[in-house]
Amino acid sequence: MHGKEQALGETFASIGVTLCVPKAFDSDRFGTFSGEIERQGSMQDAARAKLTAAMATTGMSVGLVSEGAYGAHPVIPFAAAGTELLIWRDDENNYEVVEHWFDANPAYDHAQAKNLQEARQFLDRISFPDTAVIVAPASNREAPCGKGLRSMRDVEHAVKTAIDTCIHSMCFLQTDMRAHMNPRRMETIRQLGKKMADRLVCRCHACGTPGWGLLRKDTGLPCKWCGGPSLLVSHEVHGCVACDETIMKPRSDGQTQADPAHCPMCNP
Ligand SMILES: [Zn+2]
Ligand SMILES: [Zn+2]
Repeated sequence: MHGKEQALGETFASIGVTLCVPKAFDSDRFGTFSGEIERQGSMQDAARAKLTAAMATTGMSVGLVSEGAYGAHPVIPFAAAGTELLIWRDDENNYEVVEHWFDANPAYDHAQAKNLQEARQFLDRISFPDTAVIVAPASNREAPCGKGLRSMRDVEHAVKTAIDTCIHSMCFLQTDMRAHMNPRRMETIRQLGKKMADRLVCRCHACGTPGWGLLRKDTGLPCKWCGGPSLLVSHEVHGCVACDETIMKPRSDGQTQADPAHCPMCNP
């Protein structure tokens, strides 16, 4: 529904995969960013439900799904961040490849405004009109007066309607996070698509299944003082998504000991 195949098609074509989009498929029923339909379960749960439905529609045994989540930055106060997820599933060969991309500088923002002038201040900081905007009454954010707005005239009209229907006479503005309304997000999905394609061409040397790569990061890097396990990553586990084949890889930055600040014994 949101043109993500534009961000993924070329990359997948380069590894011999032709993407086809299921026709008349309502992906919004698995959740919307603007809150009209709440997403059920985790990001991965929602993505898998969407993928299962899409594969049933196309009748194909292989599928690819994209899902994104945006909100407050996990570490930096007042900053935003986003995570993009891609899942590739092959039902015939019974494996699944999961890849993520973390965006520390997304086009994600929101504000309340009492009048048009305040609304304009918000538009000035979000790369409007490249990034489209959603406008709703502040007292009823889940009922937007306008989505995907890219002209000042449309925004003015929606802001007026929102303020008139809000019990506090305020409107709520937010960046539209649908991929075709948010060029930054489309670019992030493109980057993640490359990461997925690079992984799919890596085959397991034991069983030949595509998708060999990072499975998890284990913590417990030895503390410099006591030698006990710290909270830092000690190594990466790379492996096959179908069989039990794995290899341990040291940290890519070469660090072999943890600062005692990250040790639960030395710095409880
Ligand atoms: Zn220690
Ligand atoms: Zn294998």
